[in-house]
Amino acid sequence: MDRRATAAMVLENEVANVTLDSIGEAVLRTDAQDQVTYLNRKAEEMTGWRREEARGRPMAEVLRLIESVGSPAVGNALGVATDGEQADFTNFILVRRDGFECGIERKVTPIQDPDGRVTGAVVAFHDVTAAQAKSLQMSHLAQHDVLTDLPNRLLFNDRLTQAIALADRQGKQLAVMFIDLDHFKKINDSLGHDVGDKLLQSVAGRLLACVRRSDTVSRLGGDEFVILLSQVEHAEDAAYSARKILRALTAPHIIDNKSLDINASIGVSTYPSDGQDAEGLMNRADNAMYEAKEHGRNNYQFFRHEMHARLAERQLLEADLRCALGRNEFLLHYQPKLGLQTGEITGVEALIRWLHPQRGVIYPAQFVPIAEECGLIVPIGQWVLLEACKQAKAWRNSGLGVVPVSVNVSAAEFGAKDFLSGVRAVLIATGVQPQHLELELTETVLMRDAEAAVVTLAKLKAMGVQLAIDDFGTGYSSFTYLRRFPSDALKLHQSFVQEITVDPADAAIVSAMINLGRSLKQRVIAEGVETRAQLKFLQRHGCGEGQGFYFSPPVAAEQAGRLFKDGFREVVH
Ligand code: C2E
Ligand code: MG
Ligand code: MG
Repeated sequence: MDRRATAAMVLENEVANVTLDSIGEAVLRTDAQDQVTYLNRKAEEMTGWRREEARGRPMAEVLRLIESVGSPAVGNALGVATDGEQADFTNFILVRRDGFECGIERKVTPIQDPDGRVTGAVVAFHDVTAAQAKSLQMSHLAQHDVLTDLPNRLLFNDRLTQAIALADRQGKQLAVMFIDLDHFKKINDSLGHDVGDKLLQSVAGRLLACVRRSDTVSRLGGDEFVILLSQVEHAEDAAYSARKILRALTAPHIIDNKSLDINASIGVSTYPSDGQDAEGLMNRADNAMYEAKEHGRNNYQFFRHEMHARLAERQLLEADLRCALGRNEFLLHYQPKLGLQTGEITGVEALIRWLHPQRGVIYPAQFVPIAEECGLIVPIGQWVLLEACKQAKAWRNSGLGVVPVSVNVSAAEFGAKDFLSGVRAVLIATGVQPQHLELELTETVLMRDAEAAVVTLAKLKAMGVQLAIDDFGTGYSSFTYLRRFPSDALKLHQSFVQEITVDPADAAIVSAMINLGRSLKQRVIAEGVETRAQLKFLQRHGCGEGQGFYFSPPVAAEQAGRLFKDGFREVVH
C-alpha cells in the first residue's frame, strides 16, 4: 500500500513537472526562507539559472529585478506575497544571469500550510518586451496618418488642447491653420490615386519644412491639413507662415518624373480671440478656409466674425431646404431656346425656383450649391426631371406643340448609381419620347471623372436622350474628351456672349467656339443673349440657337406654352 502510494505521488509529481515545463509562463517557487526550491523550463531560460544550480539560493540572486517606472520597490517574494500585493501583476526589468535585460510582468502567490502559515511562494512571470513594443507601435498607428506619418486628428486635438491650456497660463496666443489643396481631386482622378498619394506626401514634407519644431502639422484626411502654430506673438506671425506655406507649395512637385503644380487655400483662427477651445478654433479656421476658396483659392484668410454669421445663415437655409420638397415649395420656370435664323422655338430649359415661405423666391445659385453639398440635390433633381417631363406631356396633350425639354443635372445626380434607371423610369411613367428630353451637363461635371462620363453618356445616348454640354468654355474640357463625349449640343456660357460686342478677344473666342462646335457636329446654343447687337453678331457667325433675356426670361409653364406657336420670328429679323 505504502509503496503504491509513493509511486502514485512520484507519478503525480512527474505530471506536474511536465505540465509546468510545457507552459509559456515562467514559474519559480521559494520556501519560507525565500530560497529557491524550483524553476520550470521557461524560468530557467529567462533567468539563465538551471534548476539544480538555483535550488537553495536566495530568490533575489536568481530572479534579479530592477524597478521599471511606476512599480513598487522590490522586496522578497514572501514580503510581497504577504503584503497583499500578490493579486496583480507588476512590471519589472529582469536581468538574466548573463546581463541581458528584458521587461517582465510578475505575480507572486503565497503558499500556506493547513494551519494558514506561509511556507513559501510561487512567483510567475513573463516577457512583456514584445507586447510593449507592439503596444507602442499600435499607439503610434492610432495617432498618426498612415500615408504621411503626420499626427492625425486625434493627436492634433490633444496637442491643441494642451497648447491652449499652456497659452492660457502664460497669457500667450496661438494660431490654427486649415489648409485645403485646390483642385486636388482633379489630379487624383486624372493621374490616379498612386500619384495623388505621393503628392500628398510631398505636400506633407513641404509643410513640415515651413514650421518650427514646436508646431504640429497634421493631416485630417483627404487633402486637408491643419497646423498648430504654438508660438505666435502677433497675428502677423501667422500671416507670415501662411504666405511661406503658399510659396513653398507652389514650387513644382516632381512625382514619378512628372512635374505637378498644386496650390492651397488657407484659413487661420487665433486663440484667444476667435475661440476658447479646440473645437471652436478648428471650426473657425475651417470657415476662414472656405472663405479663401471663395476668394479664388491660392490665398489665405483670417477668421472674421461676419464669416460666422454667413455660415449660420447658410445652415438655416440648409435646414429649410430639407423640408422644402415635402412642403412642395419648388417650382419650375421654363426659358425658350430658339433658332437664330428662323425664330422658331427649338426647346425650353427647365430652371428650378424655390418659393420660400418667408424669404420669397430663391434662385438656384443660392440653394443648388448647398443642396449639392448636403446630397439633397439627388431627390430634388428627381423631382425636377419628373415635373419637367409631366409638363412636356401636358403641353403636348393641350395641343400647344411638342418641344424638347432640357433639364440640368448636377454632379451628384449624374454620378448616382440609379441615375440611368431613374431617367428611364420617368420617361416610361410620363410617356415622353426620349428624344424630347435633353439633359444639360456642365463641363465641370463631365470632367470630374471623364472616363466614367463617357460610359454614362453613351448609355443615355443609346436610350435616345439628347445631351448638351452646359456652360461650355468655363470648365476644363480637353479636346480628346470633347470628341469622345457623344453630346448633341454645346451651350456657350453667357459670360462670353455678353462681351462679344465690347471685347474683341471674347468675340474671337465665341466665333472660334461656334466653329469648333460645328466641326464636332454639335448644335451650338448661345446662352445669355441680352441685346440686338449680340443677336446680330451670333447670326453673322453662324451660331445656330440662342437663349436669353432678349427673347424671354424664364417664365411659368403656362406663359411658356403660349410662346410655342409664334416663336420669335419678328425678333430675329
Ligand atoms: P444654366 O443652366 O446655365 O441656366 C442659365 C441661367 O442663366 C439661368 O439662371 C437663367 O435664368 C439665366 N439667364 C438666362 N438668360 C439670361 C440672360 O440673358 N442674361 C443673364 N444674365 N442670365 C440669363 P438661373 O435660373 O438662376 O439658374 C442658374 C443655374 O442654376 C443654371 O445655370 C443651372 O446650372 C442651375 N440650375 C437651375 N435649375 C436647376 C435644376 O433644376 N437642377 C440643377 N441641378 N441645377 C439647376
Ligand atoms: Mg442649363
Ligand atoms: Mg449655362
